[in-house]
Amino acid sequence: MSLIRADLDSLPAYVPGRAIPGAIKLSSNEVPLPPPPSVLAAVAEAAATGNRYPDLVVGALTARLASEFGVDPGRIAVGCGSVSLCQQLVQITCRESSDEVLFAWRSFEAYPIVTRIGAATARTVPLTEDFRHDLDAMAAAVTSNTRLIMVCSPNNPTGTAVSRTEFERFLATVGPDVLVALDEAYHEYVTDPDAVDGLALVDAHPNLVVLRTFSKAYRLAGLRVGYAVASADVAQALRKVCSPFSVSSVAQAGAIAALEVKDELLAACAEVVDERVRVRETLLGAGYTVPPTQANFVWVALGEQTAAFAAHCLEQKLIVRPFAPDGVRVTVSTPEENDLLLAAATTFTG
Ligand SMILES: *Cc1c(COP(=O)(O)O)cnc(C)c1O
Repeated sequence: MSLIRADLDSLPAYVPGRAIPGAIKLSSNEVPLPPPPSVLAAVAEAAATGNRYPDLVVGALTARLASEFGVDPGRIAVGCGSVSLCQQLVQITCRESSDEVLFAWRSFEAYPIVTRIGAATARTVPLTEDFRHDLDAMAAAVTSNTRLIMVCSPNNPTGTAVSRTEFERFLATVGPDVLVALDEAYHEYVTDPDAVDGLALVDAHPNLVVLRTFSKAYRLAGLRVGYAVASADVAQALRKVCSPFSVSSVAQAGAIAALEVKDELLAACAEVVDERVRVRETLLGAGYTVPPTQANFVWVALGEQTAAFAAHCLEQKLIVRPFAPDGVRVTVSTPEENDLLLAAATTFTG
């Protein structure tokens, strides 16, 4: 007899973007700037009462998000990062090993992991040739066992966004009996007016959950805070299975303070948007295959050359994120750091 569930033996570990001292990290889609001073001050103030438990119900942040989006606070669930909410979504939907979680592949590497942790079954549908979600094929892959569908827009790691029209058609085809999660971790970087905005649809679709995070545009990846907006029933279920006190007091205070300086944080996203166009166009000009991106990263479809390209970048002290054998995901950073990446891409000979 083993002490531990046998199925965990083959569970892949989450691979974080590498961090190497002295190297430039373009592997985790973070913002290279620290949180603004007012956010750091709020975090320090919260840390001063670190001997006390945080607010279990995350009241102040939930109220703040509710007024921000004009939804009832009961429809919001805050979690220890939106990855934690992904796992909670599996917990609230899947009970039997025959229960299925459906998602595109390639997509966010946490989806297969949280599915396996929840002892459910993953079903994947390949991206289209242009690295987009194939929502028609995904709708066709729904069975009576499908409990949860994860849709990532913009998609990590390919950067492509789902359009509002295709997503609405998808929701109509899937029907109201399967929970659909729209993971919008990179929402603040979206500029395409045709791209889906989950919050514009969530009122009309009780089976839709929108996931957002403070880890990317809001520069708080290390504090661990994300949230879901859904129907009151779904949000309540998410809160039920949340590990108690897992959203720390510094995370709660930091997130509220970040919302106070939202304009400044979003202005910095606009610079990244300009840079992603330049980075993509330069890479295209050098002969690389790079789909249009709505996120703060680019996908370089390198196929069998994925590992070699990542190794070449590392020689130039640039850490990118290889997903062999498909391609490399590279964070769009400051102009200076992006220039280094573009120089490395130019000298790569394969
Ligand atoms: C970065 C990211 C998240 C955010 O994860 P946190 O747990 O909130 O840090 C969620 N989904 C996707 C697709 C991501 O890339």
